[in-house]
Amino acid sequence: MKRKKLTSLSISFLIAIVVASYIYGNYQGRSGEGLSVISSAVAAETGSSASPVRALAERDVYYPGTEDLAPDEMRVIACGTGMPNARPKQAAACWLVELGNGDKFIFDIGSGSSERLSALKIPYDFLDKVFIGHLHSDHFGDLGDLWIGGVIGNRIKPLRVWGPSGRTPEYGTKYALDHMEKMFTWDSGSRLGNVDIRGQVLEVHEFDYRAVNQEIFNENGVSIRTIPAIHALDGPVSFILEWNGLKFAFSSDTFPNKWWMEHTKGADIAIHECFITPDDLVKKQKWTPGAALNVGTQVHTSPAQFGKVMSLIKPRMAVGYHFFNDFDTLPNVLEAVRSTYDGPLALSTDLMVFNVTKDDIRVRMAVIDEDIWPQPAVGEKLPPDASKRIGFSDFITSGRVNFKKVVDGIYSDINEKYGTDIPAPQ
Ligand SMILES: [Zn+2]
Ligand SMILES: [Zn+2]
Repeated sequence: MKRKKLTSLSISFLIAIVVASYIYGNYQGRSGEGLSVISSAVAAETGSSASPVRALAERDVYYPGTEDLAPDEMRVIACGTGMPNARPKQAAACWLVELGNGDKFIFDIGSGSSERLSALKIPYDFLDKVFIGHLHSDHFGDLGDLWIGGVIGNRIKPLRVWGPSGRTPEYGTKYALDHMEKMFTWDSGSRLGNVDIRGQVLEVHEFDYRAVNQEIFNENGVSIRTIPAIHALDGPVSFILEWNGLKFAFSSDTFPNKWWMEHTKGADIAIHECFITPDDLVKKQKWTPGAALNVGTQVHTSPAQFGKVMSLIKPRMAVGYHFFNDFDTLPNVLEAVRSTYDGPLALSTDLMVFNVTKDDIRVRMAVIDEDIWPQPAVGEKLPPDASKRIGFSDFITSGRVNFKKVVDGIYSDINEKYGTDIPAPQ
């Protein structure tokens, strides 16, 4: 019995290693990168293909904030590839698109994803455009964190959000975000007069979920169009971004549909949901076979259906997301995808990075710093206007214990250090 368990464990590991090697080789092959142990620059300098003391000039990872984006380049970063269940390894749906013209766009902002966005070391003023495919929490659950966390993190520009209508107004994006603002009434009130709140303005752009290939954004040479998606209820949509001859398509969540098939053909990068296999929904998620089949093939797109979709639209790079990508689930997803699709493929996990140009698509993983602090604002921050403070009731004020000497000391230290003259409250 014990021996049998060990054997099946070894086989699982072997499969995981084979799959990992296959995918890695695939990326390497496609990106034109070799597997040499030392860079060509170092090799040229040393006259050798290997050095025991020199650093490698190239490492096949992306360190946020260390690489310029070329004027004709698109960088796409997976900031959430998981499922509605919270887990440290994968946030829920979120994709960042950065363009060589300086524009950045967030597509979906599912639970947990704001943490990934923060790790990219981008000033929040540049993370000001969010496109929501549908109103499931795993696709917009962290919007409140980006909105409020962005203000605290130095965003002084409004946050702009685009999202679909519903069959009736209460199923639409505007209703959801009006109520999100209401939910944070205390939070917003608490910040009046205490911090620079110019970034707290929320601009909501709701558009018709039935619009087919309709442009909802056109600025600075970037066009974003919407197509209907089929998922759970009326309302969900998918997005197509085009810029500089490059085409990015993002499904959010959808069952295979005619609009995606018609309008995303030949995309440079096509990101489509690829749910966990129905069998793993039974085994890992502990669902009944009936629920697994319904959710896994009707509400969502299963890996084999995903493969079929990609075979029909033939992107330069097909990206699957929306499954827990582990050593024991990836082989099942890959096998099912490969039963219907044999083109370029990345089965994503969080912090996978795609550099897309007309000539090349390079796929790497980002390596992040966990000790993240916000970047500065793009303009000058304003000091708080104390006259805007709501303040406390007499009851709460009566409970204050003011260590006057201690606080006076802190104020004078800071005034001395920064050349300011801010009076300590009495
Ligand atoms: Zn959904
Ligand atoms: Zn989802």
